[in-house]
Amino acid sequence: MQNIVDFIQKTFNTAEFIPLHEPRFIGNEKKYLNDCIDSTFVSSVGKYVDTFEKEFAKTVGSKYAVATVNGTAALHISLLLADVKSSDEVITQPLTFIATCNAISYCGAKPVFVDVDLETMGMSPASLENFLKENCEIKNNVCINKITDKTIKACVPMHTFGHPCKIDEIKEICDAWHIALVEDAAESLGSYYRERHTGTFGLLGAISFNGNKIITSGGGGCIITNDETLAKKAKHITTTAKIPHRWEYSHDMIGYNYRLPNINAALLVAQLEQLDKFLESKRELACGYEEFFKESDIKFIKEPQDSHSNYWLQAVLLKDKNQRDEFLEFSNNSGVMTRPIWTLMNRLEMFKECQCGDLSNATYLEDRVVNIPSSVRI
Ligand SMILES: *Cc1c(COP(=O)(O)O)cnc(C)c1O
Repeated sequence: MQNIVDFIQKTFNTAEFIPLHEPRFIGNEKKYLNDCIDSTFVSSVGKYVDTFEKEFAKTVGSKYAVATVNGTAALHISLLLADVKSSDEVITQPLTFIATCNAISYCGAKPVFVDVDLETMGMSPASLENFLKENCEIKNNVCINKITDKTIKACVPMHTFGHPCKIDEIKEICDAWHIALVEDAAESLGSYYRERHTGTFGLLGAISFNGNKIITSGGGGCIITNDETLAKKAKHITTTAKIPHRWEYSHDMIGYNYRLPNINAALLVAQLEQLDKFLESKRELACGYEEFFKESDIKFIKEPQDSHSNYWLQAVLLKDKNQRDEFLEFSNNSGVMTRPIWTLMNRLEMFKECQCGDLSNATYLEDRVVNIPSSVRI
């Protein structure tokens, strides 16, 4: 394991502590931030929010983009716009970051867990379909879970570490079962499935700009959609549902203060300008890791077939839990930060009672996947 630590230190050209993922501010960040402060428009309105939304929609190839205060908020609002209500259920994967299930819970809905694919670490179309066939029926154009008698309103697959899941097959199944597809694309800015950007296959997609994501505004998120009505609603509901007027304050529903401040958007516009450069650096890093781990019994996780990954967080697959723990211990003791994949959501106290399909693949990966340093190198 010493040889792995040596390789990572050589790759990052340092013998000092190597974090898992550091942001890089090497473009126009300070210039735009200064401009934003000088303008005094640091808060709810300003040109950077508008510029960002326009540029971002162009980047991912969606018609509309609505900036939000973080990715969880983007997902929460996307689910509300997909009509998820407190009596509903939402299918997702157990191998995800907690934000996915938190957003479902903010709607009052209950998550239902189906397995992931070993190759993509994202939702498995076969597991989704099996679950639906075994447990559900369509009644009056809605999908009813026969076990709980509740409506399955939406499905939220997640593109794990930026690797696209088999989203076209998932979309087909969701369409056939009258389930709204909402993509948790929080980790996958710059990732494409069959040349189409992740997050643009479903009704809505949510992206995150948290400090550890591929580009960051400190905290931030975005809702993407091709539906004009949904985009307008998303803007309205994330800005306290205020009816536009030059001086009057009136609101037509209970809205949220989920808008992205202009000062964060200023940072984000500068970060977005560097996305291609960041993507290139990550791909180069991935190539280096892939080459190195060829000689090892530890497997580097490559981008899945038919897809182009952003390689946001690089990951390896260890033989078993013992080897994983040994690797975590050794690398972290040597100043190289590594981290196991998330604890499965169905194991957490809050989601213990949720219905699950067979979760063999998720369980297998939970014991073996570890993230290794993934920062953009300068
Ligand atoms: C980062 C992330 C989010 C959103 O997180 P925020 O910190 O709220 O921006 C949602 N889902 C997944 C899978 C994530 O990794």
